[in-house]
Amino acid sequence: MGFEPGRHSGKVFRAASVSRMRMAAFLGLAGLGALIALGFLGTAGFPRLSPRSEAPAAVETPPEERAAEGTIPVTQAEPTERTIRVGSGDTIIDLLLSTGVPRNEAHDAVAALRKHFNPRQLKSGQELVVKFGPGDDGGGDRLERMIVPVTFRQDVAVERAGNGDFVSSTVDKPVKEQAAYAGGPIESSLYETGVAQNVPAAMMAEMIRLYSYDVDFQRDVKEGDSFELLYQQYIDEQGQLLHAETIRYAELVLSGKRIRLFRFTTRNGDVEYFNEKGESVKKALLRTPVDGARISSKFGSRLHPILGYTTMHRGIDFAVPGGTPIMAAGNGTVEMAGTNGGYGRYVRIKHTGVFSTAYAHMSSIAKGLRKGAKVRQGQVIGYVGSSGLATGPHLHYELLSGGSQINPLSVKMPSGQKLDGKDLARFRETVAMIERELKALPPERRLAQN
Ligand SMILES: [Zn+2]
Repeated sequence: MGFEPGRHSGKVFRAASVSRMRMAAFLGLAGLGALIALGFLGTAGFPRLSPRSEAPAAVETPPEERAAEGTIPVTQAEPTERTIRVGSGDTIIDLLLSTGVPRNEAHDAVAALRKHFNPRQLKSGQELVVKFGPGDDGGGDRLERMIVPVTFRQDVAVERAGNGDFVSSTVDKPVKEQAAYAGGPIESSLYETGVAQNVPAAMMAEMIRLYSYDVDFQRDVKEGDSFELLYQQYIDEQGQLLHAETIRYAELVLSGKRIRLFRFTTRNGDVEYFNEKGESVKKALLRTPVDGARISSKFGSRLHPILGYTTMHRGIDFAVPGGTPIMAAGNGTVEMAGTNGGYGRYVRIKHTGVFSTAYAHMSSIAKGLRKGAKVRQGQVIGYVGSSGLATGPHLHYELLSGGSQINPLSVKMPSGQKLDGKDLARFRETVAMIERELKALPPERRLAQN
């Protein structure tokens, strides 16, 4: 993030403030000494009329308060700005108190903030920018302004108004939206290749999720395959990446087969991804029922278990770290959830039509998942483990038809929604627009299209 750190750390800043106070106190006492001396000289020739108790009140005032009266000119502290990183469990009040802001002021500032931002939404890792100005004593410890980030494009500013009260307002940040492109040969896993090209991890995870209906990320991605990705990113004035979102186009070339996905908003307002024929990517069952980003073994060096479907091994295995969430491949009803011999912790889901799916060797089954429960596609039903007869953590996945295991790779899932009419015509325009955009990329950013 491009925030300029404050000129002083908190401790240094506080120390400077205290030393200024001492200086003021010293000057105050010196001045007081001079006044007393003058008074003494001035009254020396007159009888003392007032009792000693009526001596100037200032004499009884602690030195700090004398300094705070500001009658003695001292150099004003320059405003200081500090960036405070929010730790887990931190509240804004606590963070302000830790910088030396008095409790009542911290409360007032947060009360003003509430008009535009719920302080409970503060997240660990966010940064507050707090500005201190000269206080009445000339020390630079008076809270003047606090900037709280709300989104990548908006802050809330809490500022001290002329009357000393805090007021808050929203501040739009200058951000630039631009198209971002990544692509090239897949070096090890799709996820790692993208991240190595500085594609944000969340964008790669999203791309993999979109392809999880069509691609078995354990077996289908091989050396020589390639990808392309077009998404939107937001940068600040210094060109720093603030945020990325919205995959507009994705392409995977697997063993020479090109699978393209286009983002499209239908007339009903549904945002979906379609292939170039206008068929939704969503299928009744996922081909990769775990987070495909976690399948990271390099080609050719995959260790057991990576087994595909054979007459000896009537399922397919996904090698992912223990604890990786397992997703229901499709909507359905739980037929079985519990320990099942060599399968260990096991879940079987009955889908509409003839298919069931089964998941074995779990480290644990999701809470509340029992026989009869309804599940949605993508819902987490348990976590990868090595329970039962398993040599190491992996998901053993089976597709069953009429109660017996069949090869998932042999089943072509029908696509769901298919665009037609006006939607299809508009979709074709979207496809043409994306293709023009890809062609307009500088040659070094464009993949050779063989
Ligand atoms: Zn297996």
